[in-house]
Amino acid sequence: MTVPARSPLLLIPGPTPVPQPVLEALARPTESHSSEPTGRALRRLQEGIAHALGARPAVEPVGDLVLVLAGSGTLGLEAGIVNLVGPGEKLLVVNHGFFGARFAAAGRAIGAEVVEVSCPWGEQVAPDEVERALRESGARVMTVTHVDTATGVVSPFLEYARIAREMGVLMVLDAVAGAGGMPVGMAAAGIDVVITASQKALGMPPGLALLAISQRAMERRRQRGRCGSYFLDWLNWEAPMRDSQANYFATLPTNMVAAGAAAMELAEGEGWEPRFARHRRMAHAVRRGLRALGLPPMGADEVLSSTVTAARVPEAIDPAALRRAAAGEDVAIAGGIGAWSKTTIRLGHMGATGLPELLHGMAALEGALISLGAPVERGAGVGELMCGWEEGDKGQ
Ligand code: PMP
Repeated sequence: MTVPARSPLLLIPGPTPVPQPVLEALARPTESHSSEPTGRALRRLQEGIAHALGARPAVEPVGDLVLVLAGSGTLGLEAGIVNLVGPGEKLLVVNHGFFGARFAAAGRAIGAEVVEVSCPWGEQVAPDEVERALRESGARVMTVTHVDTATGVVSPFLEYARIAREMGVLMVLDAVAGAGGMPVGMAAAGIDVVITASQKALGMPPGLALLAISQRAMERRRQRGRCGSYFLDWLNWEAPMRDSQANYFATLPTNMVAAGAAAMELAEGEGWEPRFARHRRMAHAVRRGLRALGLPPMGADEVLSSTVTAARVPEAIDPAALRRAAAGEDVAIAGGIGAWSKTTIRLGHMGATGLPELLHGMAALEGALISLGAPVERGAGVGELMCGWEEGDKGQ
């Protein structure tokens, strides 16, 4: 896939490179939010998201409802919980990194009584700990992060979903950093709400928060009566999301909806399963390359995602200087977050990114390390990346 000429290559964990047809859709004349073309694009986008998440088809009245909101992933997290918990009610947050803490903060902001179950960064919270925390807290809603973008670690969310189902607890999953690059299997796992955003593995620009909401979660919303937000109230969006031509709640970001539809055309042209396999292949190749450069991924192979890698930088190298040197080669890589900011860098390998982008990125990292005096041989990272790529779909 190509990126626009002369723009820096975004190998950060979002936003990711946006393919030309998606940018072109964005640049078409703005449509009315109640027009037929917007209605068509919205349905296309919803259908694509439903397929990406393994939700029930979005457009049938009995299916999972896909909400398309103007905003970032954080808005999506808030929309995911404000409809299900209110002041004084318990919310169990399963936190395996940075973004679980965001769910906890959003929960407290709406007055919920947040109970957290967490683990050291780079690890997963054991399912039996989640079960115990649910039993002890009596929470009826829990949040889970799919891929934590600070660490690149994926949670055992299918195990958690099984426990949630058995206990009659609603599970809200933040799949912002995985959806579109890794399977979620929402309907098969019985996950109640899945949240994502446009700018990562879905290959769109930033600007959309996307939620798939099960019938069960919608039913709980209805039973609750009141919602602590007006704009984020699912019931306000239900009718326009089923038929945007006949129903208005608030103006849709119509250019982004058109771009989203174009991104879904591309993704479905590739096919979701081949796309997930491409992401596994990229992750495996990148990690081989990084190890060869003395930048080992944080966390055990079995828990690492297909979409993001956090890699440890040798003590003698300042991660900020490494990023600056890579930026000199027109490659944007991300710094570590929080406690990992002085010791790691992070790479995104998702969305429209493919082998050419990875080669460019690895070559830039290699050059950057050499320029900073690291004992790295020219070609080591790129060579290992290619060997990993040729081995095929080995990651997870
Ligand atoms: N959750 C996860 C897992 C994320 O990676 C991000 C963005 N890095 C967010 C939530 C928040 O999304 P946004 O920055 O679009 O608000």
